[in-house]
Amino acid sequence: MILAKPWTAWMLAVFALASALSAAAPVRAAAGAIELRADAGELQLSPHVSYRHDTAGTDSLEDAWRRLRTGAFAPLPDGNPAFGFQDGAFWVHARVINRDPAEQRWLLVQTYPLSDRLDLHLRYADGRVVHQAGGDTLPFGERAIRYRHPNFMLDLPAGEPVDILLRVQSQSSMQVPLVLYTPAAFTEVSRDAQLAIGLYYGILLALFFYNLVLWLVLRDGSYFWYLFHISAFGLVLFCLNGLGFEYLWPDNIWLADKSVPLSISLALIGMHQFARVFLGLGERWPAGNRVSMLAIAAFAGFGVAAVLLPYRLITPAVSLAVLASILWITVVSVVALRKGYAPARLFLLSWAMFLGGTAVFTLVAFGVLPKTFLTEYGVQIGSALEMLFLSIALSYRYASLRNDNERIVSEANVQLERKVAQRTRALRSALDKLEEAHERLHDSSRRDGLTGLYNRSHFHDAFERMLIACNRERRPLSLLMVDLDHFKSINDEHGHLVGDEVLRTAARRIGQALRPHDALLARFGGEEFVIVLPGTDLHDAVAIAEEVRRAISAEACASPQGPSVRISGSVGVHTVVPGTVDDIDDALQVADQALYAAKAHGRDCVRTSISAA
Ligand code: GH3
Ligand code: MG
Ligand code: MG
Repeated sequence: MILAKPWTAWMLAVFALASALSAAAPVRAAAGAIELRADAGELQLSPHVSYRHDTAGTDSLEDAWRRLRTGAFAPLPDGNPAFGFQDGAFWVHARVINRDPAEQRWLLVQTYPLSDRLDLHLRYADGRVVHQAGGDTLPFGERAIRYRHPNFMLDLPAGEPVDILLRVQSQSSMQVPLVLYTPAAFTEVSRDAQLAIGLYYGILLALFFYNLVLWLVLRDGSYFWYLFHISAFGLVLFCLNGLGFEYLWPDNIWLADKSVPLSISLALIGMHQFARVFLGLGERWPAGNRVSMLAIAAFAGFGVAAVLLPYRLITPAVSLAVLASILWITVVSVVALRKGYAPARLFLLSWAMFLGGTAVFTLVAFGVLPKTFLTEYGVQIGSALEMLFLSIALSYRYASLRNDNERIVSEANVQLERKVAQRTRALRSALDKLEEAHERLHDSSRRDGLTGLYNRSHFHDAFERMLIACNRERRPLSLLMVDLDHFKSINDEHGHLVGDEVLRTAARRIGQALRPHDALLARFGGEEFVIVLPGTDLHDAVAIAEEVRRAISAEACASPQGPSVRISGSVGVHTVVPGTVDDIDDALQVADQALYAAKAHGRDCVRTSISAA
């Protein structure tokens, strides 16, 4: 193999539909004339031609004829017509003799579409030389027949040897796989190839529109990059097959030249970007994500360079970057898979389809595998399967994202419910506490701070209600006013703290004495207490007053602040007869008068309003 840059040749071999390498056949020196018979239909010329590399590209036609005579031409190395990127021009010679009088017109096809300039010279037995030109530096319409490969219609009179001398010059890979067809045979061969190509682009178009609709509906960025990738990749093969020149820009020689590196750059931008978005590299592998972004920037640079720089300069660099990208995308998908991202498996599988297809194609090109329809169209089959699987992977990814979302939402709901229940419990307990506090506050507003008994204002309200109720129910109600005796002198002798303690003790003793009875007890003010006994008549009220009085003076009052103090209290009793009094102040005043009577009577005794009167 004379491949100046093997990776470049490999790249083109991988992408080119019509392989030059695969045309290789057993080597035979090109000696004598090749006999053409129409029943064979097709003749691969590679085993029969000889060639010469005119490295400067300066040889004239006469020079070439002379060198042919002097034996400067050699058979193709290993019968292989692919030479990689080469300077100068290649001269290829074959001598043919048509043995079939019925078929005098033969089609010479170079089954490699990208050569820049082909000059064909036919020299007949009478010395006449006919020239035809081809290649993609000439408008497409100038071809003998409208076909993606450069071709020439040869007039080959029966029985007459004809020298075919072809000069090829090209900035792209130097490949000169030549085939001679009868028009009928060519029709059949091109039919099969066109069907295969049609099938391929049919699949691509179906996938394109299917995913276009999905993208429009779902608005998921990875669909967009998938569309971008398959469009650009389809364009790459379209260009490499020579179809771009045939159908898209038949008159644009500039674009025919730039389209290959340009479309490869676009396809790789799409592929890297698709892999990045699909695999979620940003979150899963930030370092790898940065490398992929660098690769995208590099291909954007190549795209610009492809427009500005000559094909020869840019294509080898792009080819190398393509190889690196193939490896890199394999690496990132394996990493994403190992990080537990399930959709990466389908992605890797699709990628393997593509690589498998190109590997098969390459093995065919190197003669390791037999050339069959399946193996020859390995790249197409592999890439079609790749795109199909990627499309499936996209749906799978979408489904798995949706499942994730549903799971997250339901988990969030459960958590939310749990939180709401928690908060509700906390709120309930806070409310309970608040209610309790409010109750306490309310209670404390009704209580006297020193003794803990009801205060005067609560007493006032409660007494009024009781008085109204007893009047309504026609029941008696008794009122007891209790005043401690000589309390001022306790304060004076022992101090206020002892006085306070005495007040607390007296309150406790009165409360205990009243426990068996239905009574309302309150501190009326100072050392005075008031007791309401609803439903109690004077007789019972006096008895209870006696119990209270006895309880107060039952024993000396011990206090931590000083000596124990003997105490006593006087009690005034007044019973309100139902229906007589309904003013509480009047009732209180009468009870107070009874209390005065008790004081006047010498204290530590009970007096009633009746006895006082
Ligand atoms: P009497 O037998 O006539 O009722 O004589 P008394 O000294 O008990 O009556 P007086 O009304 O002259 O005195 C009441 C005293 O009670 C006056 C006041 O300083 C005292 N006092 C009122 N409230 C409190 C209190 O909350 N704590 C203390 N330590 N003393 C109080
Ligand atoms: Mg007193
Ligand atoms: Mg008093």
